Amino acid sequence: ARSGYLVGLVGSGIGTSLTPHLHEREADTLGIRYLYRLLDLRTLGPERVGDVVAAAQLAGYDGLNVTHPVKQLVLPHLDQLSPDAASVGAVNTVVFTDTGSVGHNTDLTGFAQALATGLPGAAIETVVLLGAGGAGAAIAHALSSLGVHTLHIADVDHDRAGRLADRIPAAKAVRLDEPGLLDDANGLVHATPTGMAGHPGLPLPATALRPDLWVADVVYRPLETELLTTARTRGCRVLDGGRMAVFQAAGTFRIITGREPDTDRMLRHFDEI
Ligand code: NAD
Repeated sequence: ARSGYLVGLVGSGIGTSLTPHLHEREADTLGIRYLYRLLDLRTLGPERVGDVVAAAQLAGYDGLNVTHPVKQLVLPHLDQLSPDAASVGAVNTVVFTDTGSVGHNTDLTGFAQALATGLPGAAIETVVLLGAGGAGAAIAHALSSLGVHTLHIADVDHDRAGRLADRIPAAKAVRLDEPGLLDDANGLVHATPTGMAGHPGLPLPATALRPDLWVADVVYRPLETELLTTARTRGCRVLDGGRMAVFQAAGTFRIITGREPDTDRMLRHFDEI
């Protein structure tokens, strides 16, 4: 067994990330020595991500989380990709092995597990996804792997929605203002920044939220977004973005250490911090 783990987060403006605490507290509880450092690209610039990955490998890091805005930029700097990372075309986890660096995507598995545990039994025949960016791409592939029949993807950048939909057999890009967008949907997944502190508001009219619709928000700062409050008031089952954040952290922890984290305990930690 290893004497301890050294892990980092690579991204821009990551100073307030909760991920280091999630990893370190779970490791402490399991009796694992584990250091999680921030490798902020803010001063270097995102185009230097390859240098930072190489430096981390040389310095003896066991693995990295990779976040905005370099989840795609990191791809050419890795030796191998997991099937999940290859299908999403983005990496949020890098593990350094004897044979080189391997990219994974635990946003995909994190969303799938968040949905399964946070909204058990939720129907996914027809789902509407708002937002085709980093989070949206992972979620679209997660829903595809879970067997969604029809996935409608809408984004203010309609071409981006189209490019994502082209890669998923069950998906189709739709306009945000498409009449009756949610009429046939079992669920709505929101993956745009709307509802974050700097982007208040609702991503669609409240009247579109029927009581039999489930609503999942990817935004987790704040956890209780205007969308979730409104959906709850209208009688919808809701899932907040914290669960995906916790399950992606748990997935990375598992890949790096080979140890099984206690996700219920991590969810409680997340609620405390
Ligand atoms: P991104 O910039 O990669 O993608 C956002 C997308 O939303 C863009 O394609 C943009 O065109 C689109 N968009 C913006 N406003 C819109 C609107 N009003 N209607 C429709 N589309 C709109 O960002 P991202 O990395 O995908 O992050 C999105 C949100 O998800 C952020 O709040 C981020 O913090 C959160 N996030 C949460 C988790 C988690 O684990 N819960 C993981 C990743 C990201």
